[in-house]
Amino acid sequence: MQDCLFCKIIKKELPAEIVYEDEQVLVFKDINPMAPVHLLIIPKKHITTLTDMDEEDTLLMGQVQLTAARLAVDMGFADGGFRLVNNCGQDAGQLVMHIHYHLLAGRPLNWPPG
Ligand code: 5GP
Ligand code: ZN
Repeated sequence: MQDCLFCKIIKKELPAEIVYEDEQVLVFKDINPMAPVHLLIIPKKHITTLTDMDEEDTLLMGQVQLTAARLAVDMGFADGGFRLVNNCGQDAGQLVMHIHYHLLAGRPLNWPPG
């Protein structure tokens, strides 16, 4: 989508610290990290938010989750634990309207979140 920040990162029109990329998924460091590890995991297809997902997106979003899990293992913080978060809509604090998961790790993570 033309004016979407994350679509611009996908198209390399804006810089980002990319950690992983394949045909369908992109992972990059959050610009304002909330934990020692704070990655954003996104599908390259523009989906605005979780409630805009269709049946045809289930495999893709499964790939997004699998990528997060594999990265957690490969980067060595799966044993210590991590959190995978999706903020959906205004009350959850979604600011970027391209569906994304936050992967947070490297410190104890409080529950419930704020
Ligand atoms: P949301 O609040 O929508 O769930 O999360 C959006 C996230 O995107 C925030 O954690 C914010 O720091 C991050 N972010 C916003 N703009 C940029 C950017 O230009 N580059 C990167 N790497 N992260 C961004
Ligand atoms: Zn987008």
